[in-house]
Parts: sequence; C-alpha cells; structure tokens
Amino acid sequence: MAISKIGVLGAGTMGAGIAQVCAEAGYTVVLVDIAEDFVTRGFNGILKNWDKAVSRGKKTAEDVEKFKGLLSTAVDNNAFSDCDIVIEAIIENIDIKKKVLTELAGIVGADAILATNTSALSITEIAAATGRPDKIIGMHFFNPVPAMKLVEVIPGSETSQEVVDVVVDLSKKIGKEPVPMKESPGFIVNRILIPYINEAAILYQEGVAPAEEIDKAMKLGANMPMGPLALADLIGIDVCLMIMTYFWNEFGDSKYRPALSFKQKVRAGHLGRKTGKGFFDYTK
Ligand code: NAD
Repeated sequence: MAISKIGVLGAGTMGAGIAQVCAEAGYTVVLVDIAEDFVTRGFNGILKNWDKAVSRGKKTAEDVEKFKGLLSTAVDNNAFSDCDIVIEAIIENIDIKKKVLTELAGIVGADAILATNTSALSITEIAAATGRPDKIIGMHFFNPVPAMKLVEVIPGSETSQEVVDVVVDLSKKIGKEPVPMKESPGFIVNRILIPYINEAAILYQEGVAPAEEIDKAMKLGANMPMGPLALADLIGIDVCLMIMTYFWNEFGDSKYRPALSFKQKVRAGHLGRKTGKGFFDYTK
C-alpha cells in the first residue's frame, strides 16, 4: 500500500519531531493533540526549527513554505479519517495507548496502519486490544527525532509482513535507518542502554567512585560521548527507573534489579535535568 497522508497523535517532544520529518519528506501530515495549547506548542516548535534551518542555510525559505503547506493541526481524532498511517506518540501508559488505538481503529480506513512510538511496552498487547492486530506495529523513533537516524521497527505477533515492509520503506523515505526486530521488552536500544546506565547507578550507590569519576571512566575508557549518569539525568531518572522496573517484572531476572540510587533520587524529586538535580547538579 502507498502512503500519502500521515497522522501523528501527540504533539509533544516526539510527535512534533515525527510530524516535522514527515512533512520535510513531502508527506501530507496532520498533527493532533488533546488541546489547542498542546498542538500549538508542538506546531510552533516545528516552525522555530524550520526558521533556524533557514537562517543556518540548511533549508531555503521556499522549502519551508512547502513544508508548512503540507502540515496541518487538529484537536479531534476524526482528522485521521483519510490517513494511510497514524503514528501515536502520547503518554507511555499501556491502558491509555490501548484505549486510544482502539478508538483510532474505528476512525481510520480498513487498510490504514496504526504505529505506536512506545519506548518499551508490548506491541502485541496493544495490538490485541484494537481488534485489528495485523495492522498495528511499533515504530520507535529517538530523541531528538530530526537528528537521530534510527527507527526500531517492531511487529507484534499478529502484524502482517506487508505492514512491516511498508513501515520499513516509509522510515527510509523520511530519511531514517530502520532496524526491524522481533518484539522483546525494551526492543534493542533500551534493553542494552538502560541496564548499562543502571549498572553505573549501582557503582555510584556502592561508593566505588563519585558520579564525575564514573562518567569520566566511561568517556575515556570506552569512548562514550557522554557518561552513563549524565545520560540518566538527560533521559530522566524516573524514566530509567520505570524501564528497569518493567524489565524486572517482565523477565523476573535479578540482573534487571533497579538500582537503589534510582529510587532514592526519585523519592527526593531529583529526576535529572528536568528538575535541576539528579546525579549532577544543574542549578549552579
Ligand atoms: P510528551 O509528554 O512530550 O508528549 C506527549 C503528548 O501527548 C502531549 O502533548 C500530550 O498532551 C499528548 N497526549 C497525551 N494523551 C493524549 C491523548 N489521549 N490523545 C492525544 N494526545 C495526547 O511525551 P514524549 O516524550 O513525546 O513521548 C511520547 C511517546 O514517545 C511515549 O510513548 C514515550 O515513551 C515515547 N518516546 C519518548 C522518547 C523521548 O526521549 N522523549 C523517545 C522515544 C520514545
């Protein structure tokens, strides 16, 4: 099936980025959120990125006019009725995702694909709730979407091969590198990355070295562009704890036990950059 119109649900960090790259690739895009304020904030963020790209000579004013003509916004999911694919990027809560995707299934055409940008949740479980599991797929983008090349493509147990092929092709057309895989908690990137950060948080709580030294060791010894604890602060320690707890529950294996230091930071309200403090202090 050919994709010409793309819907994006959720105009937050991820949804706005996804809408931006899809419009830049020449697709007609409708970006939807629950309230006018949220959708306007997402839309204005995209316009700001395009203005910046023009001032840096990376895009022309004509390009941007064309992109703007392709992108519309709405606060009603019925705006998705003629979309060939809707990419959902709302809150990471399985009950809400199941409810919303089931509602979308009743709005879009019979052949339309519904993709979820979930970071770790089960595609099969979300798909089963919709009553059309063959048309549901995981399409996991990375933050910031315009800069990050990877899209993890995750079929659920019932997703058709045709849907996988269409999503792989679409990912390439919007300038990304798709990596298709079997469904597994955390997919590939978070399954490796979050336990790695967790191990650094365990070293920290054991007092093996201060946060600065743990990060310095990984930057200088493993050539990491950023240390694991600074990365935890960037992702959000609450998000790291949530994902580790999910692995712990899914696998029941002690190697996924969340670091106590994650819990202590979260209890203190020190979630990382977004609260000003985490493993490092950003208030000074
Ligand atoms: P965000 O909080 O920035 O944006 C979420 C948006 O969804 C908000 O604007 C909110 O108003 C909207 N929303 C919530 N419920 C809605 C509903 N029922 N209908 C329509 N809109 C609704 O969140 P985000 O960081 O963009 O994350 C979105 C999804 O992407 C989550 O599943 C998250 O796990 C995943 N994800 C996030 C990142 C990241 O680094 N932020 C990376 C990859 C994947």
